[in-house]
This record gives sequence, C-alpha cells and structure tokens, in this order.
Amino acid sequence: MARGGQGEPTDWVTRAADDAIRHAAGADRVITCSSGASPSGPVHLGNLREFLTPHFVAEELHRRGVPARHLHVWDDFDRFRKVPAGVDPSWADHIGRPLSAVPDPWDCHASWAEHFKAPLRDALHAMGVDMEEVSQTERYGAGVYREQVLLAVRHRDDIDAVLAKYRTKKREPASEQEAEELTESVVEDEDVDSEAGAGLERFPFKPYCRQCGRDTTHITSFDDETTDLAYTCTSDGFAGVTNLATQDEGKLVWKVDWPMRWAFEQVDFEPAGMDHATPGSSFTVGHELVETVFGMPRPAWFGYAFVGFAGVQKMSSSTGGVPTAADALRVLEAPILRWLYVRRQPKQAFNIDFGPEVVRLYDEWDALGRKAADPSKRDAAVLAFERASETASAGRLPTPRVVVPFRTLSSVADVTAGSAALISQVIGHVGHAHESVDDLEPRLDKAMAWTAEFVPESDRTIVRTSPDKDRLASLSAQESKWLSLLLGNLPAELDVEPVTSLVYGVPKLARGQDLDDAPTDEVKADQKEFFRLLYNLLVGKDRGPRLPTLIVALGVDRVRSLLGSAA
Ligand SMILES: [Zn+2]
Repeated sequence: MARGGQGEPTDWVTRAADDAIRHAAGADRVITCSSGASPSGPVHLGNLREFLTPHFVAEELHRRGVPARHLHVWDDFDRFRKVPAGVDPSWADHIGRPLSAVPDPWDCHASWAEHFKAPLRDALHAMGVDMEEVSQTERYGAGVYREQVLLAVRHRDDIDAVLAKYRTKKREPASEQEAEELTESVVEDEDVDSEAGAGLERFPFKPYCRQCGRDTTHITSFDDETTDLAYTCTSDGFAGVTNLATQDEGKLVWKVDWPMRWAFEQVDFEPAGMDHATPGSSFTVGHELVETVFGMPRPAWFGYAFVGFAGVQKMSSSTGGVPTAADALRVLEAPILRWLYVRRQPKQAFNIDFGPEVVRLYDEWDALGRKAADPSKRDAAVLAFERASETASAGRLPTPRVVVPFRTLSSVADVTAGSAALISQVIGHVGHAHESVDDLEPRLDKAMAWTAEFVPESDRTIVRTSPDKDRLASLSAQESKWLSLLLGNLPAELDVEPVTSLVYGVPKLARGQDLDDAPTDEVKADQKEFFRLLYNLLVGKDRGPRLPTLIVALGVDRVRSLLGSAA
C-alpha cells in the first residue's frame, strides 16, 4: 500500500524512508537500511532500538513498493574484551580473540557470539523482523573485504589525518563499541607520546596472532609493494608475516571498519545510539572516512535515545537482571512491543515498565485498535498501530481472536492460580464468550506469565484455603444478614451479570428494597462495608480484584465454604 499521498499521516519512519531514497539518488539498486551489533552479551531492550529502527524504515519502503532490505551486520569478529560476572574466570585466556572464536561457556552453541545471537534472532523472528544477516567473521575470513582492506591501507595517511582531527581526551565509554574505540584511541595516544611518528602503530588493519588467535599484536613492518605485514604478539612472543592481498588474518580497526562496510554494502540508512553521535565518535569519524576514503556519501542517519526498563525485580537472572526482547515477549504481545518503539520519536528516551503499567499499556493498545478500525480516524497514532501490527514478510502478527482486557485475564489468572483451561472457563462466565483457549492466545499466556512473575507477592490475591472462623464467629447482625442474603440467592451456575447484580444488591435487599432499585446514600455506604467483609473472608485483605469476577472465578462451592454456608 502506498504511503505519503495527500492527507496521509506521516511520522519519523516516513521521513527516514524519504531520506534513504534520497541517499540512493535514483541508483537502480535495492535500498539498504542497516543495523550492526557486537554479540558480546545479551542484547537487552535498549539495544533493540538498533534493530527495530532500520526494520521499520525498510518496512515503509516495502509498503511503497521500493526494493529494500534490512541488513544486519554482526560484529562477531570484534575482540572478546572481558569476562563477565558468572562466567568461569579461566575465560580470561580468550581475551583478545574474536567473539566467534571464544567457546560458549554454557556449552549450547558453537561460540560465544552464537550463544548471544540465537535468542535475539528468535525474539526478532517472533516480532516479524526479517533481516539479512552478515557475519564479519565470515566476511573477513572469506577475503570478501581484501580490496577494501588494501584501499584503507593505501590511504592510511589520509585516515590518520581524519582521526587526528577528532582525537579526543579520555572519557567514560557509553557503550561496548565506544569502549572498543576508546581502547583504540588510547593506544594511539600513548604511542604518539612514546614513539613519535610511528605510523605503523596507527595502522588501520590489525592482525590476529596466527599462533594464539589474540589481537595483542604489534606491527613491525609493512611492505607496500608486496603487502607483507610483519607483527609480533605480546601474548606469546610469536613473530609472523601475513599478506594482505592473499591472506585473511585480521580486520580493519573499528573506526575504519564501519565506514568500509557502509561503502561495501551501499548502506543508505543506518541510525546510531546517541552515544555514537558525538564529536570524535566512530560515527562522526566514519561519516568523514566513508566519503574521503571509500568514495560514498555518508548514509542517512539519526541518533536514537536510550530505552530503559522498570518493574523487573523478579526478572530471570540468566541475563544479569537486564531484560531482553525475549523477556519482554513473555509479557507483551509482539505488536505491542513493536508499538513501544515505533510510536515515539527516536530521540525520545523511554522506559519499558513491567509493573502495573503493563495493564494500562494493554488498555491503551486495545483502545487504539478500536480507533484503527474506523477509516475516518486515520492519523499518525493509527499509522503507528499499523506499523506495529504487520510486516511485509510475516503479515499480521499474532493477536487474540477474542480480545479480553489484560486486566481481566491477569485478574482471573491471579485468583484461580490455575490452568489456562480453567481461566478460559471463568473468562467465559465473566462476559467474554469464546470457543476455546486458543481464542484467547497469545494474550492469555502472557497474562499468566505476568501474574506469576511480575506482580509483587504483596499484590497477589491469595484465596483463603479455609474459612476465617474467628471473623465468622464475630459477625454483627447486619453482616450475618448480608451473608445469608448473598448465599440464599446465589445461583448454582455463576455468571457475571447476575452475580454483579446480587453483590451490589444484597445491601438493598437488607433494607427492604429491590435488587434493581437505585442505590441510596445509605445503601452505598453499606455496599462499601459489605465488600470489605467479602474481601476479608475470601482473600484475607480489605481489597482485591472486582468482586463479581472473584466470586465467579472461585465457583459456588468455594464461596459457600469460605462465607460459612452454615450461617
Ligand atoms: Zn599470540
């Protein structure tokens, strides 16, 4: 479907797609929207913006019928930098080796890099993100970049001149890759002090040691004629020679690698985290290098802001407590997770809240879905809903056939603490007719997971296992009358409408009125007191989920037993 016509809503995605088309300048080729990430650890929700931003832009191009791809580059040929907490300290031996050459400490994947790629790949697939993946290990190892490496080496003085312009003081790294580039620039700065004019130390290519596989190499000579590069390794003393035209034993340094890849892949759009968008960052430097050395206009881009999280006190410890996309998908339907990212300007920071906010988020999403069903109400918010709901390759992402408010599902899951089948049965009795559990999925699963894992213990509803004998023995005359009126009128089959009318109506009956009489002020005061009594007797608290839902969920036998059927 074409976008951007007269009166069509527009958003940041529309504008970024326009920029990408402008960058391609009418060239007859597929437009490339790119992301890149180093698979050095779990990809948390903050990093997800890196993947989703080019995804949405590529999707917009697909909608317009413009040939486009989302290219994702895995920087798995980057060095392993440090051993994280929880990993055997002996892994320190691998520091300096490519992430793809470090074994998987958990023994489930071929390498460290693959261990962290796999779960993210699964989560992105579930979110309808279809990317063309590139491994820098494979690219470099297969000699794909040889010409680009030689080009960079021939232009090493030009590259150094650009780097020198931006060389900055030490500062705190804001990300993995910035830490990487600071490591590089610190090496550069130290060498400037110790070894004036030693151009080889700022060589744009770094070999991995042939003997130990680490990048702890120092270049001792380079022959422009033969392209032989000689190095020694500080880890094991190995002295070797690698030929840049015929062998593939290293990589361009990060600040040169990035612009090389933009040019090689003809990247038209690639955003970057705000931390990359500062003067002297690899991004700024790369933008200059891609034009001066690699001869391609810098990609269209913008910096995107931080995404944080809240309400995750019980998050699984496998990721160090930092939620990943897979964690978020346990609680949020895929379109809702997508919506969180697409509905905001990329420069806007936000938190994903796994606490009570989840309930409001679902309500907001359902309301937007109702609005989106009305063509006369199409605006930027509806456009965001559409972008979140379907993709070119996956079509419409899974949503429940019967939409039940998340608060109702989680409330019933909370009260019953039971199986999906039991919850489905209760949901049918509280006014949401459906044929099978499947009609409620995937939302029911997420409501059950959220209730079990994200609702604090203090907010959970714990239904009493036996009647509160003390409280039942000390009922006032009025309280006894309310309870016998309730139990005396409780039908054998509980449905939400009659139960609602009865629960609200008991105080009316007690004052000699009819069930459907309008409540007087006295009745309203009685209702408050009666409801608290019911909560006390059923769940041992002064409040809880909506009483009709609670009563239907508990079923007539448990209600009678806890309210003292003998009364
Ligand atoms: Zn070595």
